[in-house]
Amino acid sequence: MTTDSPRSPHPESARERSDSDLSPSGRGEETALVLFSGGQDSTVCLAWALQRFARVETVGFAYGQRHAVELTVRPRLREMITALDPAWAARLGADHVVDMAGLAAISETALTRDVAIEVAQSGLPTTFVPGRNLLFFCYAGAIAYRRGARHIVAGMCETDFSGYPDCRDDTIKAMQLALNLGMERRFVIHTPLMWIDKAATFALAHQIGGDAFVDLLVEHTHTCYLGDRSQWHPWGYGCGECPACQLRAQGFAKWQQARTSALAAP
Ligand SMILES: [Zn+2]
Repeated sequence: MTTDSPRSPHPESARERSDSDLSPSGRGEETALVLFSGGQDSTVCLAWALQRFARVETVGFAYGQRHAVELTVRPRLREMITALDPAWAARLGADHVVDMAGLAAISETALTRDVAIEVAQSGLPTTFVPGRNLLFFCYAGAIAYRRGARHIVAGMCETDFSGYPDCRDDTIKAMQLALNLGMERRFVIHTPLMWIDKAATFALAHQIGGDAFVDLLVEHTHTCYLGDRSQWHPWGYGCGECPACQLRAQGFAKWQQARTSALAAP
C-alpha cells in the first residue's frame, strides 16, 4: 500500500478494452479482495484482478444457497486459475469463507428455499435475496479493512441482469460511500462487468486468459441456480432451464457467433 497511481482519464468501460491497462503496473503495490462465488462472473473478476494487483485475496459466502455446490468448486477453481500463469500464482493470497446462515433463516426466496423460480408480485424474480449483496459488501469491507486491501472487486452487472436492485451501479457506488464513511477508509469497489453483457464477458475472459481460461470457465465454474452439475452443454454444466443457465447459454452462443463471423471476415 505504498503507491497511488494517477487517475485514469478513461471511464471504466473504456479501460476494459485497453491492452496496455491489463498490465498490473498501475496498481502494482496494492491488494484487492475479490467477491468470489465460484460462478462464471466472479471467476472472470478474479482473473481481472490478478492481472492488476500485486496481491489478490478472495471471499465467498455460505448463505444457505440451494446451489451450495458453487462453494465446493471454489478451491479447485483457485488452483486451476493459478496454474494458467505463474505470475497469477504468485499474486493469489488467502481465501475467506463467511458463514451467513442467518440470511437463509430470514429469507423466503427461490435461492434459499424450495420456492418456484418465477416473477413475484413485486416484479422481481423470486431468486432475489433481499439484502444479500449489501451484506456481502459489509463483510467484504470488514475483511478488506483487516487485510489492508484497498480494492474490492465484484461481478455485479446491470446490462443483462435479472433486475436485482442490488446489482445496480448506483447501489454499488452507494455501498462504496457507506463503507468509506463507516470504516474511515478509501476503498474502491470495482465492477468490471457492470456495463457488458454475458457475451462480452466471455470475450473479456478470452482477452485476459485465451482459450485455456475460457475452457476453465465453461468446464469448472458454476452458474445454475438449481445446483445441477449432471447435464453438460457447450457452455458448461447446468439444468439448462433456470434463468441463470439461460443467460449463460445465450451469452456463450452470442460470443461464439461473433467469433465465427470475425474469423470468416476477409
Ligand atoms: Zn440451471
